[in-house]
Amino acid sequence: MVERDLRGQGIRDEKVLQAMGKVPRHLFVDERHRAMAYGNYPLPIGEGQTISQPYIVALMTELLDLKGRERVLEIGTGSGYQAAILSLLAREVYTVEIIPILAERAKKTLAGLGYSNVTVKLGDGFLGWEEKAPFDAIVVTASPEKIPEPLWNQLAESGRLIIPLGREGKSQRLVRATKKGGKRRLEDVTGVLFVPMKRAGEGRTP
Ligand code: SAH
Repeated sequence: MVERDLRGQGIRDEKVLQAMGKVPRHLFVDERHRAMAYGNYPLPIGEGQTISQPYIVALMTELLDLKGRERVLEIGTGSGYQAAILSLLAREVYTVEIIPILAERAKKTLAGLGYSNVTVKLGDGFLGWEEKAPFDAIVVTASPEKIPEPLWNQLAESGRLIIPLGREGKSQRLVRATKKGGKRRLEDVTGVLFVPMKRAGEGRTP
């Protein structure tokens, strides 16, 4: 997977490639899909949610430009897979999930595998995680229409925010927003397809 789908598709950061080689992706997907865990496609993780294809996980991680000392926020814990990758590349990882069953399951999976610098919280990612801010890097793995203000405010100076932006049902753009002198610098990266970010109180995504 690492050579064919990641290095082969242009992922260059050796530390990201190493982390992707270390985390056992099959332990984060539904049992029925374990045999497919290392293909380059998204997979179901329960509750109508999916884990992104390995290339997109690697790309988003590479864009965060982690050196090892950062405090990182992830929105959309899902299975905990992306958080596990981040935990190998940063000092502390905080991750917020809105679906209770997924948050519980991810907590167990991550603790069981010994990823002890990850903290999972059940909550609404639109609000970020004020108590733990500022974050050197923020990665959003569900798609809102625009950058939620609390997330921008919780980003440290020189921090990087990676986020798929789009209207529900429409195509999305993966965007990197960097905070420089308090201002936004936006880079358009590529087209992507994520589940829409839910508002608190909304039901399960069909
Ligand atoms: N990063 C995950 C995959 C994310 S799928 C992994 O590695 O497995 C997107 C996740 O975002 C889903 O679990 C979904 O429930 C969650 N989500 C959607 N809206 C959210 C919100 N407002 N706050 C927090 N999580 C949200």
